[in-house]
Amino acid sequence: MQCQTVLPGSECTFWGKQGCSFVDGSCQVIADNCEGCERIAVGTIGRVCTAYPAPSRKWLSGICNYATHVKVEIKSEELKTNPLKASKKASGGKKK
Ligand code: SF4
Repeated sequence: MQCQTVLPGSECTFWGKQGCSFVDGSCQVIADNCEGCERIAVGTIGRVCTAYPAPSRKWLSGICNYATHVKVEIKSEELKTNPLKASKKASGGKKK
């Protein structure tokens, strides 16, 4: 249903016949870490996230997985592999 309070008119899964079913009956303003994210919208309570109602919680255990302004750094051994060697390995070392 559509939100009637913080972002009036926008679709929200927390809005129902009884109003907002999220904690304290409202979403919360963005966290400092959210600055620069494209999912920020200006609502009636200030700047809020269009993807998650409690932005500060999204940063408790690392980078927010919905964030558009930061990328997760992948530290994989695979990325350190020489692309030529990886190609040879994938082809089974066959020469044409
Ligand atoms: S998607 Fe994540 S980083 Fe972006 S505004 Fe929402 S909570 Fe903040």
